[in-house]
Amino acid sequence: MSNLRFKAVEKAFSRKAVRVEAPGAKTSDYFGSLVFDRRQMRKYLSKETLKAVLDAIDRGVPLERNIANHVAAGMRMWAMELGATHYTHWFHPLTDGTAEKHDSFAELEAGGGVIEEFTGKLLAQQEPDASSFPSGGIRNTFEARGYTAWDPSSPAFIVDDTLCIPTIFISFTGEALDYKMPLLKALHAVDKAATAVCKYFDRDVRKVHSYLGWEQEYFLVDEALYSTRPDLVLTERTLMGHESAKNQQLEDHYFGAIPTRVSAFMRELEYECYKLGIPVKTRHNEVAPNQFEVAPIFESVNLAVDHNLLLMSTMKRVAEHHNFKVLLHEKPFKGINGSGKHNNWSLGTDTGINLLGPGKNAAENLQFITFMVNVLQAVYKNNALLKASIASANNAHRLGANEAPPAIISVFLGTQITKVLDELENSEGTSAIRVTEKTGTRVSLSHIPELLVDNTDRNRTSPFAFTGNRFEFRAVGSSANCASAMIALNTAVAYQLQEFKQETDKLIESGVRKEEAIFTVIRKYIIESKAIRFDGNGYSEEWKKEAQKRGLDCETSVPVIYDAYLTPQSVKMFSAVDVLSEKELHARNEVKWEVYTKKIQIEARVLGDLALNHVIPVATQYQGILLDNVYKIKTVFADAAKAGTLAAQDFSLIEEISERVNIIKTKVDAMVEARKVANKIENEREKALAYSAKIFPFFDEIRYHIDKLELIVDNELWTLPKYRELLFIR
Ligand code: ADP
Ligand code: MG
Repeated sequence: MSNLRFKAVEKAFSRKAVRVEAPGAKTSDYFGSLVFDRRQMRKYLSKETLKAVLDAIDRGVPLERNIANHVAAGMRMWAMELGATHYTHWFHPLTDGTAEKHDSFAELEAGGGVIEEFTGKLLAQQEPDASSFPSGGIRNTFEARGYTAWDPSSPAFIVDDTLCIPTIFISFTGEALDYKMPLLKALHAVDKAATAVCKYFDRDVRKVHSYLGWEQEYFLVDEALYSTRPDLVLTERTLMGHESAKNQQLEDHYFGAIPTRVSAFMRELEYECYKLGIPVKTRHNEVAPNQFEVAPIFESVNLAVDHNLLLMSTMKRVAEHHNFKVLLHEKPFKGINGSGKHNNWSLGTDTGINLLGPGKNAAENLQFITFMVNVLQAVYKNNALLKASIASANNAHRLGANEAPPAIISVFLGTQITKVLDELENSEGTSAIRVTEKTGTRVSLSHIPELLVDNTDRNRTSPFAFTGNRFEFRAVGSSANCASAMIALNTAVAYQLQEFKQETDKLIESGVRKEEAIFTVIRKYIIESKAIRFDGNGYSEEWKKEAQKRGLDCETSVPVIYDAYLTPQSVKMFSAVDVLSEKELHARNEVKWEVYTKKIQIEARVLGDLALNHVIPVATQYQGILLDNVYKIKTVFADAAKAGTLAAQDFSLIEEISERVNIIKTKVDAMVEARKVANKIENEREKALAYSAKIFPFFDEIRYHIDKLELIVDNELWTLPKYRELLFIR
């Protein structure tokens, strides 16, 4: 056994779990120890500074420069005590992932020597050399540079020796070049709109928070095997590989025992997460072999998004200690479930009410139904946009495949809520509403005295499901920045709540009683949004046909799906709630199309290289061995007919190899030609369309023959680790 593959397999299979030192303390002793949170602020900031920062965090009051100086000084002191020597503005450019540029605290002193310094100016704003981040032309056309600005609502933290400061990233003319800025605006918009609606029910509500609890799925592969698969290294997914004889058919992985090596990794990951203040809570195996999930306790959306990004980079860091590579790609292995990132989402008031959870009394339930129905209406009107918010070259492998929700957004409500909505819809006028005598102001819906929603009523095939006290947006991809989905969802809901308020107020102004007005509008929405409700099997063929009839967006081409951001309806909505301007929407779509093209382009190159450099040479080498054998048989057996019979098997393999090698070569050549044509297209949308329609289809055609060759070529010659080796951690 000489080839690299066997060395890697031997190494991978002989590994023992890495011992992780137990922290020797309770989680609460070290939770958040690397975060400049309120506890640390109280220690390191003066009372006056603390108050100003808390006002900025809680109420968005701008911080004055001299206050920023004090914060910076306190932050630096804290960070240096923990061994930090550098700082960075940490931001989320339009690629998935985060960006940072580290600077040392050290500054030269006028009289010579070095002093550690960190000013409010450096904390508050920086100009990263950002010309290489995708900007969809905004920065190039309008301004040469962009800058990052501190987001005090997400606390600074330390990774290794660096103080990381969460920031937004914008152009000099103020356009967002990142995910965080529009996310903060969307959260502000939904807060404003939802608070206004809450006032119908409770005048004490001052703020509505949007909450997110993500569930991160991922694969682990041994790092030695990973390194010998150029496709994994360069594209994070396998572009070839025949299915393993055993994969997930036995369904023995889900909730099975976690392998020792993996649980050592998970323990260390959890420890690192706790120090960073990420409240991870559950861990388990997923459906596919080597697939796992980690989920935290939900948090306010901005923080949850930052924590998810931080988790993803922490996973990669920790995995190295255990000789693993983490695959966050949505579909690393063909024929095996891909990875998603369910986004559990809800709205809650500062008075402690979950607006998407059934309440304790009728008034709370009317409020609940109001929000529930507005979400339904928002998802209905923006189903194409929501799909666009999660669409990517990677995620396209999951959506519409037979394992994940289809590329059609629908909402699952469960039998109880469906029943309530049906009753409301069919109830005569406003007879369902009456003000209860005792409390005077309380509203009662005779049909919904008390709601106890059974959240075991679940439908795993729905892309957007109500699960008792929240909605679960399940179509989000595992490698995505959750912000994209959260921007679209919160914007849509904010806009919808605004409309609801306007319609309801109009009725009230015309003399209709408040409760009646609310009910009338809700009833209208229940009827209008009916098409989005679907509790059946989302994987079925019938549903695709049915969805088409209902007028839901059924587009499956990713570049075309992105158009949903630029419809007049979307443009109007994003600007009405002040989340993204038309110019920003256009620029961001340019980036989306460009990223799509580049992903397919890279995959096409890697596939071509592997086909020509790994597969064809190995196949022809094996063919040579077979030919040798035939030659020898003919030499030994003088009787030609007899020799022919004896070599029959070899002959058929020799022919099959030739046929497949020829097809592979021809298709790779054709794919290269198609790329040349596509590369000449200047318009980003058109180019992405060409890559999607003209180049992408080659992948499966080429792969098919490669995978067949893998089955017949001598195992010892094959250079790439096979699925059965990649997928089963010992
Ligand atoms: P599942 O059964 O779908 O795996 P989990 O119990 O693991 O669900 O929870 C999934 C996520 O939903 C967790 O992050 C949890 O904190 C979050 N979650 C629970 N309640 C809410 C809520 N009201 N709003 C947002 N997220 C929530
Ligand atoms: Mg879930």
